Amino acid sequence: MRVLLTGGSGFIGSHIALLLLERGFDVLILDSYVNSSSNVINRIKAYLDKKDLNYKLKSINGDIRDKKLLDNIFIDSIKEKKPIDTVIHLAGLKSVSESFSNPLHYWDVNVIGTLNLLLTMKEYKCYSLVFSSSATIYGLSNSVPMAEDHKISPINPYGKTKVAIENMIYDLYNSNINVWKICSLRYFNPVGAHPSGLIGEDPIGIPNNLFPYLTQVAIGRQKSLNIYGNDWDTDDGSGIRDYIHIIDLAEGHLASIDYLNSKESCLEFVNLGSGKGYSVFQIIRQFELSTGCKIPFSIESRRDGDVAKSYADISKAKKLLAWTPKRSLEQICLDGWNWQLKNPYGFQ
Ligand code: NAD
Ligand code: UDP
Repeated sequence: MRVLLTGGSGFIGSHIALLLLERGFDVLILDSYVNSSSNVINRIKAYLDKKDLNYKLKSINGDIRDKKLLDNIFIDSIKEKKPIDTVIHLAGLKSVSESFSNPLHYWDVNVIGTLNLLLTMKEYKCYSLVFSSSATIYGLSNSVPMAEDHKISPINPYGKTKVAIENMIYDLYNSNINVWKICSLRYFNPVGAHPSGLIGEDPIGIPNNLFPYLTQVAIGRQKSLNIYGNDWDTDDGSGIRDYIHIIDLAEGHLASIDYLNSKESCLEFVNLGSGKGYSVFQIIRQFELSTGCKIPFSIESRRDGDVAKSYADISKAKKLLAWTPKRSLEQICLDGWNWQLKNPYGFQ
């Protein structure tokens, strides 16, 4: 089976690519490297070579907004008699703060880029899609855990682009309910790294998110962790989130492909998280316990747009996809730290 993986050299995409290749899929990665490094591809190859696996991987440097390029990718695959069976679409921009300062760029890349991709899929009769949506579409709410029917009310432009794409997918599916097979996966907080330490998260500049910031403090790239508020309505006053091991998240994509393959047609919106909530203080404590590192921190004021608690109800994913997250918070800390230790400056 041939899979087109857009954004396949990014944090999430690289882990999905590796799992797909290990399972014998033929993988085409399309990425513009605006937020990733081409070294990722070499790392994936090195890992598979070391395991002596035969694999089918091709990486294409390009932009999802380039319609001609997308046409050529689909046409070439048909000519090779290996048409693209499924698209896993991750390419896009994901910084909440940047989406406030440059919203049109977010609408262009995320929404126009996806429109382009869906148009091309339709033209070449590729009807199977896994899309990376986000828990950010649920917006401000203290009601947890959040199931898929939770109110959709994004509070930032990034989240609004994800809602727009989900709406586009919904309309597309309903235009021909006999052919389209679509899973839109709403990720919570993917963290950690592949246990080999060969691939992991490598944010450009100063990390916005807790986990990569924490590991950079541990390795000495950042001095101290800012905790954004200890006065939230939670047991210890810090914010609660749903941290899911990146490999569990990647396995959710393979389970989604299996699910799509078992259906004639479908459209499903599915949460992918661990189903558990941990506070910032709990994360720091577990990280220190698992790694022996000491994390200096200071308490700062709340960050704009944050919520007290966000974690997923994952019963739909468990039932529909026959998937369950298996890795503990300790494993997340160990694998994340292993990656940071082996690659203090990421892929550079
Ligand atoms: P990432 O930035 O590491 O990966 C995205 C990849 O897309 C990058 O490699 C980037 O170079 C590529 N890309 C960006 N614009 C492109 C374009 N126009 N054409 C081709 N490639 C392009 O981010 P990630 O964390 O791996 O996220 C992947 C997807 O999952 C994104 O769509 C993101 O919105 C979504 N998501 C991420 C999280 C998270 O916490 N990491 C949470 C929810 C949803
Ligand atoms: N957070 C923090 N310091 C940081 C980054 C994040 O205290 O440097 C907190 C943040 O306020 C939230 C939690 O950690 O309560 C997770 O934040 P992250 O940005 O990783 O995920 P998101 O808020 O987007 O779910």
